Amino acid sequence: MQATTRPPPAQKGERAASAYLHPYACFKCRKSFKRASRVEAVLPCPHCGGPSIGLTRKFKPPRKADVQQWRKVEALVRQGFLFWSLGEPYPETLAEVEAFAARHAGFLANERARNPAGYAQIEAALALL
Ligand SMILES: [Zn+2]
Repeated sequence: MQATTRPPPAQKGERAASAYLHPYACFKCRKSFKRASRVEAVLPCPHCGGPSIGLTRKFKPPRKADVQQWRKVEALVRQGFLFWSLGEPYPETLAEVEAFAARHAGFLANERARNPAGYAQIEAALALL
């Protein structure tokens, strides 16, 4: 996808406290990197050049070797969760994702309605995986 081939923006916020940096997750590499803003819904992964998805600061990346946890994160993002705080903890296993998404279907619909362009980019990126 052309939109993901641009280089990442300059690292102006690199020295800011990591609490203020936004994670982007690459499901292919099972890695995340941080940027000072989350204006772009999708950025190219600095490791593989593939699409990485901008998530909220609540996201804590699993270890690279933890394939099951990365699958769970990908499943959550495919459902539309970008790791906002919700009224309950995020699921601990992949098997719990579907029921979790069903419980938050209204919330997800609102988020998609609020940011259709961002979700279009995310869905285009996920379609490449
Ligand atoms: Zn990557």
